[in-house]
Amino acid sequence: MTDEQDRIVSGAESGGDVIDAGLRPQALDDFIGQKEARENLSVFIEAARARGEAMDHVLFFGPPGLGKTTLAQIVARELGVNFRATSGPVISKAGDLAALLTNMQERDVLFIDEIHRLNPAVEEVLYPAMEDFQLDLIIGEGPAARSVKIDLPRFTLVGATTRSGLITKPLRDRFGIPTRLEFYKVEELTEVVTRGARLLDLKMTKDGAREVAARSRGTPRIAGRLLRRVRDFALVAEREEVDAVAADAALTRLQVDNIGLDTMDRRYLSCIGETYMGGPVGVETLAAALSEPRDAIEDIIEPYLMQIGLVQRTPRGRMLSPDGWRHMGLTPPPTKEGGSQFDLLGGK
Ligand code: ADP
Repeated sequence: MTDEQDRIVSGAESGGDVIDAGLRPQALDDFIGQKEARENLSVFIEAARARGEAMDHVLFFGPPGLGKTTLAQIVARELGVNFRATSGPVISKAGDLAALLTNMQERDVLFIDEIHRLNPAVEEVLYPAMEDFQLDLIIGEGPAARSVKIDLPRFTLVGATTRSGLITKPLRDRFGIPTRLEFYKVEELTEVVTRGARLLDLKMTKDGAREVAARSRGTPRIAGRLLRRVRDFALVAEREEVDAVAADAALTRLQVDNIGLDTMDRRYLSCIGETYMGGPVGVETLAAALSEPRDAIEDIIEPYLMQIGLVQRTPRGRMLSPDGWRHMGLTPPPTKEGGSQFDLLGGK
């Protein structure tokens, strides 16, 4: 089984990323890409500041590594308030949430990552806290149990989740500002890489930055990670400047192909193509065949492969698209009727 955290092209956070904390943009103006989200947030931040009130609650959704945590920190900084961060699975009891909320100051930002993984009992306590800034807690057990209401400071909750479909409707409805983050364009990631190289004191040509960007799966976290690996190769090879050839050589050594796919992606694609004749195949079956958790497949591997059109999701399961077959250098099998299996996709 491949450890998702060890994949160089995984959007998920890994231990090695701690040192790229210095690459994190600190202000909305330094944040590259996500134009729509940025423009909306800047309006809400300005309005909240002008009124001197807490900003409405924000929900960020999008695959790992697109900048949800970074934006949450920027929101707090631009509002000029404290930032506290936690994550859904860490808050195991209602009391943990109560402790967090009662320790906040007026207008502070509380960031809950992986908010879809909150325990349902904790989620219930969060509803009145978000809506009325009140905690309804049951103290004690059995006949002695009584309910207490505690007033909370007005705060801003920033939630993050990898897929909006994972979050319950009552929770989603309580966020005034739902914001979807999109995969980044190559031009935007080229800027992310150029900025990163400057901060890391690495000389890099525009083509070199573009080469890294094109292989970063639309994800700044991956761009930062690939950049650091390319820098290692450049250092050992005693290269003064990283150009496209040097970047390509380093990334090829790391088995990241020209569109950013690694061995895990290729295993996934060849499993559909070769083992299941191009699909359709259900995600559970794929998870078992690849010995990977279903969540990792749905959150980390598939979104990008679907975005670039190598895999299609159909009601009966995942299928390789014509581009998917082509990228893998495989030939799609003919269907029984003699047509192509893409006829199943309605002629697409
Ligand atoms: P998420 O919370 O969505 O998993 P993060 O906010 O932790 O992602 O971002 C992952 C990494 O990518 C961070 O190290 C950050 O420096 C970098 N990053 C994210 N968005 C941008 C951006 N727009 N510009 C530059 N770097 C970014």
